[in-house]
Amino acid sequence: MSSTAGDHNLPFIFQLHDLLMRDPVAAQAEAASQIATRHDPVERVALNLLHAICTARTGDFVNAEHQLTRALRNARQRNFHYLIAEARDELAGIHLIRGQIDIALRQWLDCFEASLKEDSRYGLVRAHLGIGKVFYALGKYDEAKEQHLRSVELSYSLKDVSLSSSIHLCLAADYLKLAEFDRAFVALAIAEDHLEHATQAEHARCELLIYRGQIYAARGQWQDALALMQQALQLSKMHRLIWNEALAVLETGRIHFILNNLPAAREQLEVARGLAGQITSTLFEMQAEELLYSISKQEQDYPAALHHHRRYTELTLALIDTQNRHQIDPTTRRRMRRMENELALAQSEEENTSLLARLHLHEEHIQALKVEAETDPLTGVYNRRALEERLDRELYRASQTHRPLSILMLDIDHFKQVNDLHSHLTGDAVLRTLAGIVQTCCRQDEFITRYGGEEFTILLPGAAVETARQVAERIRLSIAQHDWTSIKPELGTITVSIGVTERHEGDSAHDLLARVDHFLYQAKEQGRNRTCGE
Ligand code: GH3
Ligand code: MG
Ligand code: MG
Repeated sequence: MSSTAGDHNLPFIFQLHDLLMRDPVAAQAEAASQIATRHDPVERVALNLLHAICTARTGDFVNAEHQLTRALRNARQRNFHYLIAEARDELAGIHLIRGQIDIALRQWLDCFEASLKEDSRYGLVRAHLGIGKVFYALGKYDEAKEQHLRSVELSYSLKDVSLSSSIHLCLAADYLKLAEFDRAFVALAIAEDHLEHATQAEHARCELLIYRGQIYAARGQWQDALALMQQALQLSKMHRLIWNEALAVLETGRIHFILNNLPAAREQLEVARGLAGQITSTLFEMQAEELLYSISKQEQDYPAALHHHRRYTELTLALIDTQNRHQIDPTTRRRMRRMENELALAQSEEENTSLLARLHLHEEHIQALKVEAETDPLTGVYNRRALEERLDRELYRASQTHRPLSILMLDIDHFKQVNDLHSHLTGDAVLRTLAGIVQTCCRQDEFITRYGGEEFTILLPGAAVETARQVAERIRLSIAQHDWTSIKPELGTITVSIGVTERHEGDSAHDLLARVDHFLYQAKEQGRNRTCGE
C-alpha cells in the first residue's frame, strides 16, 4: 500500500495493513487492541476502518457488514482514500456474494464517485473491477470485460501486484466465458506473474489453476484439465477455500461426465452439490443437478433422473427470480453512464492521453500481426492456424448455447494433373479463383480456411448438417459450372469432392476434423465431384 496511500501519515496503519495481507485474523486482533489504547479521533477512525476490513477478510460477513457501514459513516469527512475505497469495495463484495447485485453495484458506484472527487486512482481501479464483477454476475461478459480492461489500464501506475493479479484473474474469467481462449491464457500468465510477488495469494492461485483447467477442457485436453483441477482441489482444501473447492469438484465431475466415467462423475457432483449448499450458491447447485440428471438418464434410472430434473428446474427458477429482482434499474444505468463521462473528462490529462495512445498503437500493431499470422498469402482466406483457434472457440460456444455447428472439407479432384498438364502458376491461379468462388457462396460468419495445399474447410456456426449439405452442394456446383477458360483456354472443368459433418456432443476439434476428413475420403472413393457426410 506504500505507493498509493500518500493520503495519510499513520505509520502503524501501514504496518497493520501489511499484517492484514498476511494474516487477517491476527490483524483483526491487533486492530482491536489498538482501538482500546488510542484516543486520537483520527487514529481511531482509521483503526475502525481497518478492523472492519479485517473482519470481512476473515469471512465473517454478518459482522463485517455492520462494522463496515459504521466505520464508513465515521470516515466520510476524513482523508483515508485508500482505506475508504477498500472498505467500500469489501462491502460491495459481500452484497455480491449474497446475490444482491443491485446493492453491490450501487456501492461500487459510490466508490467510483468518491474516487473521482478525491482523485484516487486506487479507488477507480477498485470500482471498475467491482462493476465488472457485477456484469459478470449478470452474464454480461462483454461489458464485464470492458470494465476489467479499464481497471487494467488505470492500475499500471499503481504497481500493486495483488490487485493486478485479481484484475487479470477476473479478465481471464471474462475471456473464458467469451471463448477467447488465447486472451484468457495471456491474462492468466500475467496474473501468475504478479502472484509470484503477492502475499496471501492462495485464493488467487487456486482460481488460476481452475481457469487454466477450463481452457484445457474447452480444447478437449481432458487429462491436463483433470490434473489442474486436482491441484486446485488440494490447494483449496488445504486453505479451506470452499468456493474454489466447489468449483474444482464441479468441473472435475463435468469432465468425467464428458469422458463417460459416470460413477466417478456422480461421486464428484454429489460432493459439489453439498459444497454448493454450504456456500448457498444456487448457480453451482443448479449446474450439479443438471449433470446428475443427465447421468441418471444415461444410466436409465428414470426416477432419479426425474428427481434431479425437478430440483434443477426449481433452482433455475430461483436463479431467474433473483436475477430479475436484482436487475440494474434504469436510474442506476444512467448514473453509470454519467460516471463514465466524468471519468473520460478526468482522464484527459496528458499522462493518460499518451498512455492510451500508446496502448491503441500497441493494439493496432498486434491486430496487424494477428491478421498476417492468420491469413493464407496465396488465396487471402484464413490459414490452418486460424482454424485451430476458431474451432476451439466455436466448439465451446456450441456446447454452451446448444446451437449446431457444422464443418465442410473440400478437396480439388485430380489437382496434380492441373499442375502437371498446365503449370504450377496455372494451379495457383485456380486455387485463388476457387477460394473466391467459395467466398461468394458463404455468409460473413462462415469461416473459410485453406487447410492444406488444395484442401479447404468451411466452418458453419449455427448450421445443422442438412443446411451444411446445401451449402456444400452450392459450392460444388458453382465450381463445376465455372468457366475456367479465362485462366487458360485449354483448362477443362474443375471439380471438387466435399465431406460434411455436424458437431456431436463431446466432440473435440480433433474428433470433428477426423470425421469430416473421413467423409471427404468417402466422396473421393465413390467417384469424386460429390458431397458425402451425415
Ligand atoms: P485427388 O482427387 O485424389 O485429390 O487427387 P489430387 O491430384 O488432387 O491429389 P493429391 O493430394 O495427390 O495432389 C494434390 C496436389 O496439389 C499436389 C500438389 O502439387 C498440389 N498443390 C498443393 N499445394 C499447391 C499450391 O500451392 N500450388 C499449386 N499450384 N499446387 C499445389
Ligand atoms: Mg489433397
Ligand atoms: Mg486433390
